[in-house]
Amino acid sequence: MSERQITRDIARYSEQDQPMHRWAMTIDGETVSELWVAVETGEIMQVETPDEHQGNGYATALYRQAAREIAVFHAPESHRTYEGDRFARSVGGDALPCLHGCCDDTPDFDEE
Ligand SMILES: [Zn+2]
Repeated sequence: MSERQITRDIARYSEQDQPMHRWAMTIDGETVSELWVAVETGEIMQVETPDEHQGNGYATALYRQAAREIAVFHAPESHRTYEGDRFARSVGGDALPCLHGCCDDTPDFDEE
């Protein structure tokens, strides 16, 4: 029986990065997917699944787990990588508007 586990901690993606939330899925001790989320904004910063583990829904499971625990948001549509955009569209959920003033994508909050 393989044992699938999701763990959550705070880690640095690299030495230059601020600490982020990290959800990781391990199967029999091997990390098969990681989801990195900015502490301040809840923005998803990285989703990493090694090629040999893709297509199994691991990243989606991490997203669902993270969203149960804190408010997580996809990156603004205009800032996404191709992969990030595909991920966001496949799992659904809320996205952040551009907070950097570089895109004209102000959401219409007053729309009924
Ligand atoms: Zn922008």
